[in-house]
Amino acid sequence: MKLVVAEKPSVMRDIAAVLGANQTNADGALCGNGYMVAAARGHLLRNKTPDEYEEYKKWDLSVLPIIPDFEFVPIEKNIDVLHTLAKLMNSREIDEIIEATDAGREGECIFRYIYNYVGCKKPVSRLWISSMTEASIRAGFDNLKPASEYDNLYSAGYTRSQIDWLWGMNLSRLYTHYFGGKCSIGRVRTAVLNMLVQREREITGFVKHPYYKLKLDNGAEWINEDEDSLPDRQSAEMLLEKCRNQPCKVVFLKSQTKKENRPLLFSLTSLQIAANEELGYTAAQTLNTMQSLYEKKLLTYPRTDSNYLTDDMAAILPERVRMLRCFDDMSAAVDWLLADGLNIDSRIINNAKVSDHHAIIPTENIGNAANAELSDDEKAILDLVINRFLVALSPQHEYIETEYIFDVAGESFKCKTKTTKEMGWRRFVKPDKNEANRMLSYSEGEIITVGNISIVEGETKPPKRYTESSLLKAMENIDRRIVDKELSEYVSERGLGTPATRAAIIEKIISDNYAERKEKNLVVTDIGMKMIDFVPDEVKSIEMTATMELQLSAIQNGTVSADDVIKSITNRIVTIIEAEKKKPHTPVIKPKYEPKAPIGKCPKCGGNVYKFVRDNKAVYYCENSPKSCFFRVYEDDFFFSAKGKTLTEAMMKTMLTKGEVKVCGLISKDKTKTYDAFIFVSDKSRTDKNGSTKVCFDMRFPDKSKKGGK
Ligand SMILES: [Zn+2]
Repeated sequence: MKLVVAEKPSVMRDIAAVLGANQTNADGALCGNGYMVAAARGHLLRNKTPDEYEEYKKWDLSVLPIIPDFEFVPIEKNIDVLHTLAKLMNSREIDEIIEATDAGREGECIFRYIYNYVGCKKPVSRLWISSMTEASIRAGFDNLKPASEYDNLYSAGYTRSQIDWLWGMNLSRLYTHYFGGKCSIGRVRTAVLNMLVQREREITGFVKHPYYKLKLDNGAEWINEDEDSLPDRQSAEMLLEKCRNQPCKVVFLKSQTKKENRPLLFSLTSLQIAANEELGYTAAQTLNTMQSLYEKKLLTYPRTDSNYLTDDMAAILPERVRMLRCFDDMSAAVDWLLADGLNIDSRIINNAKVSDHHAIIPTENIGNAANAELSDDEKAILDLVINRFLVALSPQHEYIETEYIFDVAGESFKCKTKTTKEMGWRRFVKPDKNEANRMLSYSEGEIITVGNISIVEGETKPPKRYTESSLLKAMENIDRRIVDKELSEYVSERGLGTPATRAAIIEKIISDNYAERKEKNLVVTDIGMKMIDFVPDEVKSIEMTATMELQLSAIQNGTVSADDVIKSITNRIVTIIEAEKKKPHTPVIKPKYEPKAPIGKCPKCGGNVYKFVRDNKAVYYCENSPKSCFFRVYEDDFFFSAKGKTLTEAMMKTMLTKGEVKVCGLISKDKTKTYDAFIFVSDKSRTDKNGSTKVCFDMRFPDKSKKGGK
């Protein structure tokens, strides 16, 4: 029997239905027709954390660099699933395994980690499909690939997770130590945060300048050879005086027919950008919604970096468009689009630009969409994808652009007008707000009357803060920021991070508290700024992370070995650690509770005792705690609270300087009497239920007799 391993139960059921495996066995797998179909739950295994390796437990510089022999451990909540899969994979009934996890780098890792962990040795073939429809699953099973074709993909995925682990764990610990506060470093993440910080600097360092423009009432603006605005009002007014009531002559007129390229089909990132701009969705929200539409078989595979289809797909497109008639409001659009034939050109089909998966389009099940139960988010994303599908298959948008230049008293004024010739794809797109168009019809040499000339005052503007969509764009077009040509060419194809990880990168920066969402903007926090200033270029530069991407892609292409890449990156980490250990460091983050002055000397070790307030509660602690001293007392310490008192700063001060403090009005145990006593820090200590040593107090009465403390 063949065992099919899907990434999750919903996919297992879809595949089983196509294969005709409809008997559920005792292990929850679906059997029939010579197949057994089972499912993982995404990742079932994870890398151990440094804390789980005995030798790296200690948060101390001496354990760096942390370079373990990587070990996987089961993810606790899914351990039963792992056991079941282990049993099935190694069962005698099974003679072949079909790997049916998602067709991408992560899916490859999910399966292989399990396969290796359970010690399975059976032959494996790979199901590689771009949509979850019946036809696609069937075609995939007719055309199973040898698993070895994906060895390099796995190798690249595995190496990526290793180097990201090594990079993140080592450098986070290293810089947290020197920074004085949490310093969460990620290979891609820190470079992205750096972009946010640089933008913030450009904004705060920006000096605004006023400018003045002159405008005719037909919209034409004053132009000059080098400037089309003036820096001060006075010169603008002089110019206005010069032109006032002077004849205006049309000295130049040129009309041209222009075509406007239609937008490309959606990749995941371009869909995330559009959904953020038009719907205000976060990248993570769009990815999740997209994944669910994929699992509902309405749209093709989400985690794609391609905006194109392959040439064998051209033939199916007319039928795919026809299916959109299932939406009541779309018949007219479909008829219009099919009437003159679809515009299937090199902006749609490009085999060279499709690697693992093609662009996102509706599947052949889209005809059922009108009856499907969809959430509002799903409807909105589905609409965006369908709209883009129509736009991309539409004819060009053509317009006539006319440029006019006017002469007034020797000064030139210029304007352009646009008239639509063919609406083309723009009939599916909301008109641009900025394109309020004016109709002008002048002929060259004509002298016209200009009613009014006005001065328009403006101000130069700083660059804008990143929004999620502009940050995604910047991550995709990262090549523009890289000087090195080879590197820049490489990343121009892919950008920074992968389509599948970009959303998570943004979310992590926010959950680390290095940036926050303010309306649509991503705003760096103070701590985010300080962190970026603190770490060196090689930890935060785009070039650093792009070089590693290049190395990973070389593994995927089979031109370098994973071992070599890991070795070279490990060496970089070691070099950074060694260099930092030699440098002098001043912590940037002083603990929030850093006191102005000590309130006394520690009775245990002689160190300074400070006070800080957390959650409205005062704590008195020795500077050597918790490392070498246990002196740390809360104002509501039981010894005092049981006697109806709060340990005030004044009391603590007296105790530390005079050795004891006289407290009046203590309440007796049975709450019937009050009494006065001298309270002091006991020589003894106690151990609490967590095994920590705690300070004890004791007291003596004014009559010199002694009573035990707690
Ligand atoms: Zn102490």
